[in-house]
Amino acid sequence: MRLSRYFLPVLKETPSEAQIVSHRLMLRAGMIKQASAGIYSWLPLGYRVLRRIEQIVHEEQQRAGHIPLLMPTLQSAELWQESGRYDAYGPEMLRIRDRHDRDMLYGPTNEEMITDIFRSNVSSYKNLPLTLYHIQWKFRDEVRPRFGVMRGREFLMKDGYNFDLDYENAMIAYDRHMVSYLRTYERMGLKAIPMRADSGPIGGDDTHEFLVLADTGESEVFYDSAITDLRLGDRLVNYDDPAELRAICEEWTTPYARTDETHDETLYGEIPEDRRQTSRGIEVGQIFYFGTKYSEAMGAMVTTPDGARVPVHMGSHGIGVSRLLGAIIEASHDDRGIIWPEGVTPFHAGIVNLKQGDSATDAVCTELYAGLAAAGLSPLYDDREERAGAKFATMDLIGLPWRITAGPRGVAQGKVELTSRRTGESEEMSPAAAIAKVV
Ligand code: ATP
Ligand code: MG
Ligand code: MG
Ligand code: MG
Repeated sequence: MRLSRYFLPVLKETPSEAQIVSHRLMLRAGMIKQASAGIYSWLPLGYRVLRRIEQIVHEEQQRAGHIPLLMPTLQSAELWQESGRYDAYGPEMLRIRDRHDRDMLYGPTNEEMITDIFRSNVSSYKNLPLTLYHIQWKFRDEVRPRFGVMRGREFLMKDGYNFDLDYENAMIAYDRHMVSYLRTYERMGLKAIPMRADSGPIGGDDTHEFLVLADTGESEVFYDSAITDLRLGDRLVNYDDPAELRAICEEWTTPYARTDETHDETLYGEIPEDRRQTSRGIEVGQIFYFGTKYSEAMGAMVTTPDGARVPVHMGSHGIGVSRLLGAIIEASHDDRGIIWPEGVTPFHAGIVNLKQGDSATDAVCTELYAGLAAAGLSPLYDDREERAGAKFATMDLIGLPWRITAGPRGVAQGKVELTSRRTGESEEMSPAAAIAKVV
């Protein structure tokens, strides 16, 4: 992409309405524009990151054997009346009436709808296990939408639902989700810690929230610092091996890690003192086993191998796709702007031309662009007639991992400058070497 032809409305001023750094940087970098309270337009740069995050979520879900589908945003109230949640959900649910006076709602989540899809089509244990998921916009009329996309009213969520014959199998699905979530966040350059959470009014037994440590997080968290050293790395996970999944989950759930809702002072006190940590955290996902709550209420039954009919065991599992942009920026920025982890960056490298119109420099920039594109990467070429300082400030603000700078002096010696956004270190080298290093 050439910046002169792109739409990147960066702001020079720091927007006064934004209270936290990720919100400020997303506005300044021209990633989002508020449409109304808690509802945002995704401008091109923000949209690119959103799509990359979505793509990682899809890949990791499908790697775990989960099947994508797409349910609508608008739902009929009837299903929610069946489950009993139409009245219970309260004012967070946006209720709508259509021209025929039918009660509708903008879905805050999809347990009812997926249970309806399941019961209409599946009736035997032979079709289990089954996990279906989608990535779709949700609406929750939050009392206080704030912090930009972190607590929006309209937000993008991945929500997945497992259907299993019994508790044991549902626990395998639970473990599969935990492992797939660990992989997902790690690919985004995030450390998201699974913490035992409170099942709240929905009831049920097993639930973990995934929290990214950040001062601006809305949850208070307590943990054993040993958990922050854990990494999946390039371990190959066999999702068909329940014992392997269990072992990984045990590794991640043995060190103490809880939110304030489930915090236990006695257990916390048993951690060696130098490893006791308390901090703030951003909830970027949650996994939840709730058993037969919806299947009983809505009659989602399956026959067992012995011919009995039993309600199917379920769980639901969410990832805050749009919230993740804010969480990643909270975890990765400096005073000049965003520092995108490679996994989610909107462009892989920025090319800065220090003398637009100088034919030798222009030629080198074009060569860099073509080389990066040929390697399958997306470069952003700043070909505007701007001062070097302004170009550098824009690149720093939008946080691409690499900047390649070309100017007449270096070009005369066959050199460009490669700069790492994260370390700030620069090195001179040939254009081919710079391309090789970025790839
Ligand atoms: P919170 O405690 O922050 O209100 P939640 O527990 O109500 O979130 P879940 O029902 O667990 O949310 O939804 C799954 C994920 O969706 C959450 O872990 C979070 O990352 C994301 N999410 C929830 N509410 C919002 C929101 N208002 N804006 C953006 N993302 C959200
Ligand atoms: Mg909530
Ligand atoms: Mg929560
Ligand atoms: Mg939650």
